Amino acid sequence: MKKEFKAEAKRVMDLMINSIYTNKEIFLRELISNASDALDKLYYKDLKSDKETDKEKFYIKIKTNKDSRTISVEDTGIGMNKEEMENNLGTIATSGTALFRNEVESESDVENLIGQFGVGFYSAFMVADKVEVLSKKDGENDAYLWTSENADGYEIIPSEKETNGTIITLFLKEDKDGENYSDFLEEYRLRSLIEKYSNYIRYPIKMNVTKTKYNEEEKDEDKKYETYVEEEVLNSKKPIWKRNKKDLTDDDYINFYRDQHYGFDEPLKWIHLNIEGAVEFKAILYIPKKAPFDYYSKDYKKGLELYSNGVKIMDRAEELLNEEFSFVKGVVDSESISLNISRETLQQDRQLRFISKQINKKIEQELKNMIEKDRENYEIFYNQFKSQLKMSLYESYGAKKELLDLLLFNSKKHDKLVTLKEYKEEMPSTQEYIYYVTSDSLDKAKNLPQLSFVDENNDVLLFTDQMDEFVIKMVREYEEKEFKSVSQLDEKEDEKEDEIYTKIKDILPDDVVDISISENMGENPVTFMQKGDISIDMEKTLSRQPNSQANGIKAQKVLQINKNSKAYNLFNKALESENKDEIKKITNILYNQARIIEGLDLDNPTEYVKDIRNLLE
Ligand code: ADP
Repeated sequence: MKKEFKAEAKRVMDLMINSIYTNKEIFLRELISNASDALDKLYYKDLKSDKETDKEKFYIKIKTNKDSRTISVEDTGIGMNKEEMENNLGTIATSGTALFRNEVESESDVENLIGQFGVGFYSAFMVADKVEVLSKKDGENDAYLWTSENADGYEIIPSEKETNGTIITLFLKEDKDGENYSDFLEEYRLRSLIEKYSNYIRYPIKMNVTKTKYNEEEKDEDKKYETYVEEEVLNSKKPIWKRNKKDLTDDDYINFYRDQHYGFDEPLKWIHLNIEGAVEFKAILYIPKKAPFDYYSKDYKKGLELYSNGVKIMDRAEELLNEEFSFVKGVVDSESISLNISRETLQQDRQLRFISKQINKKIEQELKNMIEKDRENYEIFYNQFKSQLKMSLYESYGAKKELLDLLLFNSKKHDKLVTLKEYKEEMPSTQEYIYYVTSDSLDKAKNLPQLSFVDENNDVLLFTDQMDEFVIKMVREYEEKEFKSVSQLDEKEDEKEDEIYTKIKDILPDDVVDISISENMGENPVTFMQKGDISIDMEKTLSRQPNSQANGIKAQKVLQINKNSKAYNLFNKALESENKDEIKKITNILYNQARIIEGLDLDNPTEYVKDIRNLLE
């Protein structure tokens, strides 16, 4: 009986069939990769149950038939029973469904889809209009045949198969519209595809190939060259991480990255480690160019593939990566890790802890190295992952100080992003603090009146990311230099005028805790300074948190008035003539102007406009 595919699966298939995706040849890589996974699973199962693991038993075989226009990928792996066929071949992993909340339209969307979710099996439908999966699960007696034609639903029927494993047969589409599917039946083509994409698969990929032999004894000239068919292993089998760095090309690393579904884009950087000593391990670690689209959601799962001397024991060992480096993808292989390690014992494992420490250290070093030597790429990386770095620093309550060196900031004096190290190196010896201002845009930050309070020779960091100030408050200092908000500079107390203070304090709301008069404000009549730890930008961020207790938290503001401004003059006149209405009006105008500069809402904009109008008339 024919069954319908689930909606998401149907959608992926339609995309494959009407493929807007041009790189159809990858179907072979995908099927071989699945076969290799199935072999991994059986190998691991056998090892754990102390069963004889005869290496000869584990292989992949490619067969073609030009008459029936079929190509098949056979493996001697774990196999699938009926239920697994139903669950694995007719649906998509749940993480995949997230994608369908967004539209999948362009070719690059499809590339992402394949890259991130391993819709691998479905790629068969890019080249075939009918697909058969014959499989027998290891340890079970019954075999089943799954068939789907034109991806128009599927059927599963009982079948015959002697040994465990899976044979996937593709009935190639007709050559038309400039597509040459028949090409996939050619030996040379398959050979080159396997070399390109699947060379390092650890199990032999076999194929019957036609060879020619020269027979000297043969008298008949025409028969001197004899052709015969022989089974050949087409891949080198040595896993890429066990190979020598100098024998590997960029393409090798990039293909491995894609094949493992670490991401579809090219990786930005990779680190190939071969660590020797009491605990030895090999690893390839990748820094992606782009954050996966679910990276900042709770769907995202970090971790590295974990092998024990070439045997895969875990698809994703989370313990290997610190939270701040959760974007790293890759593989770790160590003889020091026991095959019997389980999720539960992973955390306590001393070897694993050691490996994890080394790995995180290397990642940090590599990023620092990029800052020094490859700033352009570092900025690409930083744009994608800065929020993660900041979040981890914040969540460690500032303990992960080393992450400070990975942050970049805009600054008053520079047109480019600077590190804290660079900022500090430029500091004049008299400069006591690392200065910063906060704002929600770079333009605004550059024009904040508070900047004029800082000596011209001192640079000021311009924080435009909501998190910046929260993070800085957690760490408090960088290499013994304290961070200081420019809005929090200590004002000279002697400028304070008691009369003004008592006259206008009552007019202002409670969060204005002080008033000060300054001669040092350039053209700006008024600004807010801050007392205490909460800045105005933090107040804004906190007020946006839904249902947060932090909602009512306000910065303690100091209304600072420019002594050389017209407004101040008017103000003094009003004080002299004890014109209460006028005092109130000017106070409110100044207060509201300070709010506008900071990007805060006005409680009563209509009244503010009325006051201004009166003043202008
Ligand atoms: P992925 O491999 O990323 O999980 P696929 O769509 O390629 O996604 O495959 C779906 C599932 O079907 C696999 O996870 C696996 O459980 C099963 N599968 C595919 N090919 C094989 C195979 N050759 N042997 C056993 N199981 C397979």
